[in-house]
Amino acid sequence: MPRYDFRCRSCGATFELSRPMAQANDPAACPQGHQDTVKLLSTVAVTGAAAGGAAGGAPRQAPGGGGCCGGGCCG
Ligand SMILES: [Zn+2]
Repeated sequence: MPRYDFRCRSCGATFELSRPMAQANDPAACPQGHQDTVKLLSTVAVTGAAAGGAAGGAPRQAPGGGGCCGGGCCG
């Protein structure tokens, strides 16, 4: 059963619940009983891509754009 992270906007507490995917978007009360909670992204690999600003379209080295392989020495 997947676990979902929630954050309470009333007291700021974060908590996680195990619930069926069918109920993933159901409202969840925080351990203190507050109903004003938001579901957090439960993605594990958020740190790398999000922190690196990959959304801006990071420049990638084009193959054959210089260096060793530019002159066809590799193939
Ligand atoms: Zn709360």
